[in-house]
Parts: sequence; structure tokens; C-alpha cells
Amino acid sequence: MKPAIDVQDVSQVYVAKKKAVLAVEHISFQLLPGEFVSLIGPSGCGKTTLLSMIAGLMAPTRGVVGLFGEPVTGPSPKIGYMLQQDYLFPWRTIVDNAYIGLELRGQLTKERKDYVHHLLEEMGLIGFKDALPAQLSGGMRQRVALVRTLATDPDILLLDEPFSALDYQTKLQLEDLVAETLRDKGKSALLVTHDITEAIAMSDRIFILQPRPGRIRREVEVPADIRAELPFAAREQAHFQELFRDVWSEFEQMTAAGAAMKRREGGEGR
Ligand code: ADP
Ligand code: MG
Repeated sequence: MKPAIDVQDVSQVYVAKKKAVLAVEHISFQLLPGEFVSLIGPSGCGKTTLLSMIAGLMAPTRGVVGLFGEPVTGPSPKIGYMLQQDYLFPWRTIVDNAYIGLELRGQLTKERKDYVHHLLEEMGLIGFKDALPAQLSGGMRQRVALVRTLATDPDILLLDEPFSALDYQTKLQLEDLVAETLRDKGKSALLVTHDITEAIAMSDRIFILQPRPGRIRREVEVPADIRAELPFAAREQAHFQELFRDVWSEFEQMTAAGAAMKRREGGEGR
């Protein structure tokens, strides 16, 4: 089975005015078809940079990204990207917002439009299809963003903190909806989050990243009892707290090491 995503020894350097920033270095991992994998780590450890390279929006400085065995050379129809902000156009109705990806690809056929209506129904949004985004709550707007992402039927979803702007209850509901929808449709997903419980509750595997430069610190397999449930119920499984404490202490060690490094650099810099 060819991996859905194959990141092979990838590094990315940003060149700013006077200095170069090594954003990520020597990152390698794979995402298998149908798998749900999370990347977690503190802000600045290169999560968004990694997603941008996988999405073909930016070429790696070194290394290669593959999608189903083909090297990434630019944006691919196999990928759908969902962000923290919904980026709905305020002057377009919900259904017209959901059509955007199809329009951009010249795929706005009767069949695809029907599929969008079906998705809106699945997401409990069909009654709002002619409303404007301003009339919807934050959670509903993120559901529209999910419909828009699924409308083009991508194989892989890249999710960059899609729940982090939502209130807690809405976030938990949407986690379940996203997990169930992607599972039913057999999609592969790569989720970026800084919420440890969300990563454990949603994923098959987790990569913990560390910053300066961004590297993979550890890979964590999520136990079967947690994986078998949707995210809300997963939080109540026997191994959940144990795994949470394990990942939490990894974060604490990482932030302690980071603080020590900053102190040293600060001292040397003067
Ligand atoms: P994360 O998503 O984990 O917060 P990012 O991928 O956004 O991390 O950033 C990783 C590192 O690269 C950070 O040190 C950040 O400051 C730097 N960086 C990100 N984008 C740029 C850019 N366009 N130019 C220069 N540096 C950048
Ligand atoms: Mg980011």
C-alpha cells in the first residue's frame, strides 16, 4: 500500500531580511491511506510549514514530499485544506460558499452540486443553504468550511487547528462530526493542533514536534480502545488519562529544555 503522504527527510529554511530561519529540519513520516495522524507541538515548531509543503504551496528546501507515490510539485486535487478561520465570503450564500472549490476547478456539474446538497444535509446545514455566513454561529460556519473542503472529494484532508477558535462544547461536537465523516468516507487526515486531548481523542498516531528547529521528538501510537471510539467517547476510555499524562510530561520536558536554551543564548548574545 503506497502511503497517502510520504515526507522524506524534509527541511525548510525561511530567508528573511537579515537572517535565515531553519523552520523544520530532517522531518520524515508517513500517513497511510485511511489513517488519522496528528502533529502536536508548541507554536513555532513548524506545523503550518509542514502542511504548506504537503499541500504543494511551498517547495521544501531539502527533501521530498510524496502523495500516493507521486512527488508533490504543486497543489494537488487529492488534498483538501481546512484552517482555523473559515474564510467564507460574506456576500455569498452558504451553498455558494460551499461551491467555491468546485468553481475554481471548473467542476461545478449537476452531480457535484447534488453532492454538496447531500453534504449540507449531513452536516445539518440544508435549512441554511440560502443564508449568509453572518447569520451562522462559528461552529456552523466551520461545518460549511468542512462541506466546501469535502465537495471536491479529496483523498487527504489537512486540518490546521480547525477547532481552536470554537467554544468548548462546539469544538467537541465538531470533532465527533469530522471524525465520523472522515471515517465513513475513508479519508486520510493530518491534523495540526496544540490540544493534547484533541490529538489523542481523534488520532491513530501522534507525532510530537519540538521547536528551534522543528523536529519530530517522538511518535505515539494511540491504543485500540481509544481509536475505536469517536472523540467524545474516546476521552472516557481506560487508557486515555495515562496517555495524556505521558504526552503532557513530554511537553513539560520540552518547554523546560527550551527555556534553558533561551537563557543560554540570551547570556551568550551579550
Ligand atoms: P507552527 O505552525 O508550528 O506555529 P510555523 O510553521 O508557522 O510553526 O513556523 C515555524 C518557524 O518558521 C517559526 O520559527 C516561524 O517564526 C518561522 N516562519 C514561519 N513562516 C515564516 C515566514 N514566512 N518567514 C520567516 N519565518 C517564518
Ligand atoms: Mg501554525
